[in-house]
Amino acid sequence: ADADASPATESNALRTPIVAVLGHVDHGKTTLLDKIRGSAVSEGEAGAITQHIGATAVPLETVSQMAGSLVKPEDFDLPGLLFIDTPGHHSFSTLRSRGGALADIAIVVVDVNDGFQPQTLEALDILKRTGTPFVVAANKIDTTPGWNPQDGSPIQGSYDSQSDSARGRLDENLYEIIGNLSDEGFSADLYWRVQNFQKNVGVVPLSAMTGEGIPDLLAVLMGLSQRYMKEEMEIDVSGPGAGTVLEVKEERGFGATVDVVLYDGSVREDDVIVVGGVNGPIVTEVRALLQPRPNAEIRTEKRFDKVEEVRAAAGIKIAAPDLDDAMAGAPIRVVRDRSEEEVIEDVTSELAEIEVDTADEGVVVKADTLGSLEAMANALKEAEVPILRAEVGDVAPRDVAVASTAREMENKVILGFSVDVLPNAEDELETSEVRLFRDDVIYQLVEEYEEFIDERQRAQQETVMDKIIRPCRFRILEDHVFRQSGPAVVGVEVMSGTLKNNTNVAKWEGNKPTRVGQLSGIQEQGEDVSEVRAGNRVSIAIDGPTVGRQIEEGDELWTELPEKHAKILEQELSDEIPADELEALTGYLNKHRRRDPFWGK
Ligand code: GDP
Repeated sequence: ADADASPATESNALRTPIVAVLGHVDHGKTTLLDKIRGSAVSEGEAGAITQHIGATAVPLETVSQMAGSLVKPEDFDLPGLLFIDTPGHHSFSTLRSRGGALADIAIVVVDVNDGFQPQTLEALDILKRTGTPFVVAANKIDTTPGWNPQDGSPIQGSYDSQSDSARGRLDENLYEIIGNLSDEGFSADLYWRVQNFQKNVGVVPLSAMTGEGIPDLLAVLMGLSQRYMKEEMEIDVSGPGAGTVLEVKEERGFGATVDVVLYDGSVREDDVIVVGGVNGPIVTEVRALLQPRPNAEIRTEKRFDKVEEVRAAAGIKIAAPDLDDAMAGAPIRVVRDRSEEEVIEDVTSELAEIEVDTADEGVVVKADTLGSLEAMANALKEAEVPILRAEVGDVAPRDVAVASTAREMENKVILGFSVDVLPNAEDELETSEVRLFRDDVIYQLVEEYEEFIDERQRAQQETVMDKIIRPCRFRILEDHVFRQSGPAVVGVEVMSGTLKNNTNVAKWEGNKPTRVGQLSGIQEQGEDVSEVRAGNRVSIAIDGPTVGRQIEEGDELWTELPEKHAKILEQELSDEIPADELEALTGYLNKHRRRDPFWGK
């Protein structure tokens, strides 16, 4: 904006909105960022963009050149857009600020042909949770069959140059995306139909490859920021800086440094800063503020330029002593007009905000950043997986020790998100019962763990099923007594359930069950079998009774169930057993409960 029209003064200015790009893998996040940077550079002159640490600033002038008539510089007083260079919701959730997301606005990239995918949903969940406004870039429109590419054109012009069939195909895909958004609880429409961007999500059809639609995306981003975020962008640039650690990095000549996105105030050389660390807040003094050297000079010995001061919004590398334990995702604050204690308290309370609810029994969670730890904790809460301990950092021997204290086998588990395993922890893992699951995608990690649990439960049920006595009702057939006793051999029909050899046989007399003997053989068409399903007729041998005394032709008999087994079957396995067996179980329980209503409960 022209400086006279802007309300900004030396200390009070509008800062650049911070933009993050999210979406499913391969849907075109990187390509989109590259295209924006690339065409900014080719459109503009020197200074068309500024490369920050971890981010790229595109000034309003350049945005306007790229967007053509869609962005008139005189309509805006925000200075431009700051794009976070590392796309993906991993970095997005790392980039948290007090109470929410660090990015002011997000672009969710969706491949028009591939539609919604797991990470699209995950991105939307994160945006919903953090209350971040976003636009949907319906990407790869150039892959629509019959598409006639219009490089760099605004979407309306490009759309009008398509055949009816190509336009029809694209429309279909776009409406599918709009429908999917609505399924997720977002009222959405093509961006030119959206009246109120606070209530509705705008969908921008574009191609990161050909650039068509990118002018529209920039216009929506600028418009949205100018209209709804101007107040949040008003900052005191000479105030003490506030930012978030994006990454902790060893840098030759500087030791441990932190890459920081500054969203408020400024940082100067020699400022005292407080940084969130693994073992609490770190108080140190800025030794150097480093900006990347322009591309042309990057092959020289020095990759960074020192600067004296940086103002929000900016990405900056800070070199200072004692930063080894700094945590990615942690807050960083400049101590300037307040006491050190107050600032330490601020950082401490902000770190506490991210602390995860833990239980006495549960799994151990490790993640590479505070933000991803928080995201993991949320995903696990949703999956109802309790957490014993959650920390930022690689898997260490201590984690194995902690995990092995879990009582349940299914909690003797470490879930590692985007972390490494320290070599001595690997040895510990080998000799302990603890299982490690690792992944770089949260939903996959949770899924892997859930599969493990399911499998364990299935295996357990199978062993329980093997050991448990199963219900069966059967009937002695008329004229099928082959031997009176020692053992009694009779023909029976199995009415419901499965009759198994070596089980006890019971009969009801009035309200009372009586054991009549034990099954010692089953023959089906002359062959010995160990069990027989409902609906079949077999001859069986029963040790104990005599036909005509304890048992008679036509008697209804049951497999005798121990009370404990009946209880497990009813309460835990009733979904697992066949319908006819369930019928036998219910019949058996009902008979018992007529005498004792609490039997098997
Ligand atoms: P990311 O994983 O979301 O960062 O996806 P990439 O930016 O790496 O893109 C994945 C693949 O899709 C690459 O091969 C890109 O060249 C391709 N791609 C991305 N955007 C477009 C587009 O608009 N049109 C076409 N045809 N291909 C694209």
